This record gives sequence, C-alpha cells and structure tokens, in this order.
Amino acid sequence: MIIVPEKEISGLLTRADAYHAVAQVFASMSKGTAYNFPVIREAIGHADALYGFKSGFDRDGLALGLKSGGYWPGNEAKGLTNHQSTVFLFDADTGKCRAVVGGNLLTALRTAAASAISINHLARKDASVLGMIGAGHQSVFQLRAAVEQRNFEKIVGWNYHPEMLSRLADLAAELNIPFEAVSLERMGAEADVIISITSAFAPSLMDAHVTPGTHIACMGTDTKGKQEVEASLLARASVFTDEIAQSVTIGEAQHAIAAGLIKQSDIRELGAVINGTDAGRTSDDEITIFDGTGVGLQDLAVASAIVDLAIERGVATEVDF
Ligand code: NAD
Repeated sequence: MIIVPEKEISGLLTRADAYHAVAQVFASMSKGTAYNFPVIREAIGHADALYGFKSGFDRDGLALGLKSGGYWPGNEAKGLTNHQSTVFLFDADTGKCRAVVGGNLLTALRTAAASAISINHLARKDASVLGMIGAGHQSVFQLRAAVEQRNFEKIVGWNYHPEMLSRLADLAAELNIPFEAVSLERMGAEADVIISITSAFAPSLMDAHVTPGTHIACMGTDTKGKQEVEASLLARASVFTDEIAQSVTIGEAQHAIAAGLIKQSDIRELGAVINGTDAGRTSDDEITIFDGTGVGLQDLAVASAIVDLAIERGVATEVDF
C-alpha cells in the first residue's frame, strides 16, 4: 500500500494535473462510466464535528475509493486546519487498499479545477474582468486557477467580511492583475466571470445584480440550506453542474428547484459539454451558471494522479498491508 502524506502533495500535483484529472472524470460521469455513491455526512455528537465520506468508482480510470473527513471547528485553536480529509484508494480488481493520500490541499485543488473547467468551457472567450465573492481559505486557490483560463485584465472582489479581501488583493498583486474591492452592483455590472465561494446560508448575489453574458461559478454551496445566489437567477440562466443529483439536493439549485423556478431536467452536466454532447454556451448574451457541488470522484481522480506522480518521483512510502 502506498502512503502519500499531506506535506508531499504541494510538490507533486500541479494545477494542470488537477484540471486534467477532474475534466476526465466529469466526462466519464456524463458518459455513465463513472458514478458517485450516496454521500454520508453526520454530526457525530463529539467535538462539534461534522464527519462523512464521499465515494465512487470510475471504470475508465479504475479509481475506486472514498474521501473521508469533515469539519472540526475546534481545530484552529490546536494549530490544525478545521477541515480535515483523507483519501483511500482501493485496487478495483482485488479490493485491496492501494493508497492513503492526504486530502486537504487536494480538496482545494480539485475544487478550483472544477470552476476553472467551467470557465474554460462556459465563459465568453472575450471575458476580461473576474469577480470574486468570498475571501476565505478556498478563494485563493479558485483565483489562481481561474486566471489561467482567460486573459483577465482586472479582478473585482466583494466579501461579507470586507477586511478579508486583503487576501485576494495580495494574490492579485502577485499575479500582476489590478484588484478593486467593489459593491455587488458594480461586480454584476463589470465582471464577465464571477466565482462565489462562501459558506453563506442566504444569497449575496441577486438576480438584479447580474448582467447578460456573465458566467457564474457557484462553488460554496455543498450542503442542504446553504445558498450564495438568488434562486430566480437560475431561472434566467443556463444551469450546469458536476452532478445533477447533488445539484438539486445539496447544491445551489436546491432553492430554485424547491421554489418551482426550474426543473431537474433544466440542469445540464458540465461533463456533457466537455464530451461535446452539449453545446454549452450558445450566445454572448446567455448567463451561464456552474453549480459546483463537489463530488467524491473528483477526489479519487486527483488522488490517483498524485499516487502515480509519487511513484514516478520516488517519494511514495510503501508499506506491507
Ligand atoms: P472559510 O471559512 O475559509 O471562508 C468562508 C467565506 O464565507 C468567507 O469569505 C466569509 O467571509 C464568507 N461568509 C461567511 N458568512 C457569510 C455570510 N453570511 N454571507 C456571505 N458570506 C459569508 O471557508 P472556505 O474553506 O473558503 O470554504 C468556503 C465554502 O466552500 C464552504 O461553504 C465550503 O463548504 C465550500 N466548499 C465547497 C467545495 C465544493 O467542492 N463545492 C469544496 C470545498 C469547500
């Protein structure tokens, strides 16, 4: 069995590797050759923790396994990250445990890869202003991956806690792209692409803020009750997702579905756009939304790539198990 500890991941997996692995598995999900199993997520009644696992099988890439972990709010006081996760991969031919891979950085990279894929396939080619809603841990990974997809000349940012925006301003300076903190009205008017990555339970971005032609990657809503954008915006947009079953239950679309504003059959798979069986954006005026709910197969695809890279570079620890 191979072990790839958390500290090795940053030196192994590039953003391009993560993009490639996630795009491939989204394509396989849409073809029906990869599928996610039902997600388990439970409050365990200890340490205020939310624990769960996401699992699945990709018959094309032969990735079988699960990501296990969750949220421990008391960790920060102990000098640890609140979100903790570990990926376990199993040999699809024998069921033997193939690898254990640190899952924290991997989660940020695979999530950023998903929104970057959506931007590449759904944003207007001439998109030049990137809007960021949210300035937490995930936001910087999102920003780094997004700027590789279009020739962005400006970044505009808004956050519920405005003092956190310095995090995005610092990264924008490093990337040599002008940054400005703006109102949501201005963001909607100026941004061609908007990424939303917050832990909000009420919408920040409203229907009236958004102008035609915008692509919005809603990346924060991954649980029942969370919400980042007004539900009526989804009725005005073409809605794409990683997995329709998750989109309607724990994703951004849950609210528009519950309010009867859209139907499940209105939601399309990003994997189908990658495969070329869905045309994706068809006009410059169309508003496109990617409801990125985060699926276990993303974790397995990226973890498999990490294991291959660790073996290739001789940094994999092998134990007899
Ligand atoms: P974080 O705690 O570091 O940051 C939270 C962000 O949400 C901050 O910008 C904060 O200002 C903002 N926020 C908090 N309360 C808000 C409110 N009431 N209204 C608007 N904004 C508010 O979190 P993070 O690690 O950056 O994760 C952000 C979100 O992304 C979480 O909801 C997390 O569960 C989700 N997430 C999704 C995926 C996926 O695959 N889709 C993967 C990882 C994380």
